[in-house]
Amino acid sequence: MSDTVFGKIARGEMDADIVYQDAEIVAFRDLNPQAPVHILIIPRKPIATLNDVTPEDAALVGRLFQVASRLAAEEGIADQGYRTVINCNAQAGQTVYHLHVHLLGGRALQWPPG
Ligand code: 5GP
Repeated sequence: MSDTVFGKIARGEMDADIVYQDAEIVAFRDLNPQAPVHILIIPRKPIATLNDVTPEDAALVGRLFQVASRLAAEEGIADQGYRTVINCNAQAGQTVYHLHVHLLGGRALQWPPG
């Protein structure tokens, strides 16, 4: 698959406000935040979309959400509530084709989203 800005961030080739990282996962603040807390959680492995997740990625995808939950607690939004979102492909608004979970919180969020 083609390289993306998130691939560059994961490899340390581009700056980002990183809030968590381990051997498999990097989490960093969104450049254009849509809420007081807006963090992107990505696998280092370059998976383009949710459609490209394979059975061997199941534990990795589970860990993305574990990291989201841990970061929500660290950001102080776990009890008031937060949202995790994966946009898949163009009609859902995906713009960066490297799988990412948005963690959004710190304000009341509307449902359904637009
Ligand atoms: P998507 O629309 O693909 O689900 O979300 C992509 C997100 O990545 C957007 O919220 C956008 O603001 C964010 N973003 C795009 N480029 C960069 C970047 O270079 N650095 C950071 N930190 N966020 C980015």
